Amino acid sequence: SSSLIVHVRVAPLGDEYILLLADDRTEITRTEAVRNDFVANVSHELKTPVGAISLLAEAIDGAADDQVAVRRFTARLHKESARLAALVQDIIELSRLQGTNVMLQGEIVDINEVLAEAVDRNKLPAEEKRIKILVGGTVDQPVFGDRDLLMTALRNLIDNAIRYSPADTTVGVGLRHRDGLIQISVTDQGPGISADEQERIFERFYRVDAARSRQTGGTGLGLSIVKHVVANHGGEITVWSQPGQGSTFTVRLPILDETPDQDAVAPAEK
Ligand code: ADP
Repeated sequence: SSSLIVHVRVAPLGDEYILLLADDRTEITRTEAVRNDFVANVSHELKTPVGAISLLAEAIDGAADDQVAVRRFTARLHKESARLAALVQDIIELSRLQGTNVMLQGEIVDINEVLAEAVDRNKLPAEEKRIKILVGGTVDQPVFGDRDLLMTALRNLIDNAIRYSPADTTVGVGLRHRDGLIQISVTDQGPGISADEQERIFERFYRVDAARSRQTGGTGLGLSIVKHVVANHGGEITVWSQPGQGSTFTVRLPILDETPDQDAVAPAEK
């Protein structure tokens, strides 16, 4: 809604006047609402693995003599605790992102190198599904920002492409200059995403298919993290997709302008 939330204080000023102090609380109230929402979602999301872990611990206890059952429950216990760990890590990452301004503590980042490492770190899961990662293009200008966060963002996009793709397909990763920006794209031959879903996938904890996301080890926070990182770097992320036609996620980042300030190089001409 577009309503305004204002706190008003009234103070008498002598006999004839009163002082009205109006304090616009709209933005603060909205931020609080978003935060409360997030806390509610987090509690809900944490309850699932935590509940499963305590049930499995009980089951292991009760199956003491049945070695096959114990092994089965233990394997599931490991899976659930891995999920819990991933979830906690993503939640921490996301809260960190909301509290920092990366542009204030940034460095010069070679995006070629960051992308190469992001691909490298996804090699194993790709090999397990016999997915070929094709990498193309380089850029000769750096970006300014936080290397670790950019790495996290690119890793998440490639990780999604692999997780949602069927075996024996190809994931394409491209890097190039376009319209004065650095453009990174990740293309897959997965199930694709409908237009309606495309609007929602960047929301926290939103998943098109919760069961599928959970099964593949997703937390529902990946794209939300990517979106925050890209926005913090003054860039944008878009998705192109059609059901059955795969998906392409495209990140555009501003180039670090290394040409010195005109005033700084030629003050004498003024
Ligand atoms: P998750 O941990 O569930 O993967 P994300 O925030 O990374 O969470 O993605 C949100 C949802 O967007 C996913 O649950 C999935 O439904 C959809 N999605 C993300 N990437 C892809 C992709 N490459 N192909 C198809 N669907 C995708």
